[in-house]
Amino acid sequence: MAQADDPRRRIPRTDALLAHPTVAAAADEYGAAAVREVVTEVQQRARDGQIVPEQVLEHVISALPTRPGSMTPVINATGIVVHTNIGRAPLDPRAVEALVAASGYVDVELDLGTGQRASRGAGALQALLAAVPEAEDCLVVNNGAAALVLATTALATGREVVISRGELVEIGDRFRLPDLIESTGAVLREVGTTNRTSVADYAAAIGERTGCILKVHPSNFRIDGFTSSVGVRELAALGPPVVMDSGSGLLRHDDALPEEPDVATCLRDGATLVTASGDKLLGGPQAGLVLGERATVELLRRHPLARALRVDKLTLAALEATVRGPRPPVAGYLHATPDELRHKARRLADAAGLSAADVVEVDGRVGGGGAPGVPLAGWAVAIPEDGAVALRTGSPAVLARVERGRCLVDPRCVPDDDLPALAGAVRRVLGR
Ligand SMILES: *Cc1c(COP(=O)(O)O)cnc(C)c1O
Repeated sequence: MAQADDPRRRIPRTDALLAHPTVAAAADEYGAAAVREVVTEVQQRARDGQIVPEQVLEHVISALPTRPGSMTPVINATGIVVHTNIGRAPLDPRAVEALVAASGYVDVELDLGTGQRASRGAGALQALLAAVPEAEDCLVVNNGAAALVLATTALATGREVVISRGELVEIGDRFRLPDLIESTGAVLREVGTTNRTSVADYAAAIGERTGCILKVHPSNFRIDGFTSSVGVRELAALGPPVVMDSGSGLLRHDDALPEEPDVATCLRDGATLVTASGDKLLGGPQAGLVLGERATVELLRRHPLARALRVDKLTLAALEATVRGPRPPVAGYLHATPDELRHKARRLADAAGLSAADVVEVDGRVGGGGAPGVPLAGWAVAIPEDGAVALRTGSPAVLARVERGRCLVDPRCVPDDDLPALAGAVRRVLGR
């Protein structure tokens, strides 16, 4: 039991803390539950003797929420353009504007002229078809995996999906495409070997039970050496519909990523459908794109599962703005020249009170689901290794890269507007 002189008796009571004007204002703005959680947690720290009771109010105030929700914006100083753990592609400001505009009531499924129901998200679909005239029709679903599930469900449930053993890919976080495909009730018909598959392997497996041929781009690994695989063009000549899971969402060929498949080329080569993600190299919101032959896209659109994989209006708005708009941030970061990056790193070093000697040459990466192994030449500011943790846990939160005993702060994926904040964070971490 707490004694009369027990300091715990001096811990401010919950209602007293909640009544403090600053605390009450935060509760009004961000919700009572979030604020109450902070209060309870700080009181517990006082009970545990980590802080004295007189510090409770001050600690509560400094821990009050300052934004709705718990996600913390992160400055990406890793040099990895599409970084899975920090939300893949950052949206272009115009996509953000479109998304905000769509956040209220909006004509997503209404023709304002006639007052009649209209086809949902037609603007985003038209934007995609304008960007890829090779496609007769297209469809947008929740993500790349959903696009693949819908395609294999509609084409191959109860039938076989013919796929090369070199393309049975795990996409991350223990999700494996073979499991995903089998979950649709399709049977995988594996052909070839890990490193080599020939057109004859496919031809031998094709028969009455074939629902489709699936080609998956190995977007997160490389196999070098004695390898061979079969291109879309040869597969298309075999007869059954060919689904190409291109992954990264490049709509057209990009010379900077010579081996990355793009939607337009796959369709020209004869793919029936191409699936892709919206938030990888396309640089838009999380979405799954399906582009291709009209009748097959329509088959997918009419499938009952399509309704469960439908995207919301915010995604449609951001996707349309991304596809119609100028080069999104992802493309800008990918194409930044080493010279531009050296200047950017020098500016960062200057502003952080460091010298040109701290600016070092580095390799950036495309990251999450695109162009594995393709190095992106760039420049970073090097600071001591322990700076990485301080940067990550600071405010603003900065994610840097640790390599060979150094912390590399790579400005490739940092918008110019964020450079002063990044420099300030580096300066504080170095104690300058
Ligand atoms: C990323 C990727 C997927 C999954 O796409 P999500 O948008 O993450 O669902 C599927 N296939 C390939 C080849 C990929 O690169």
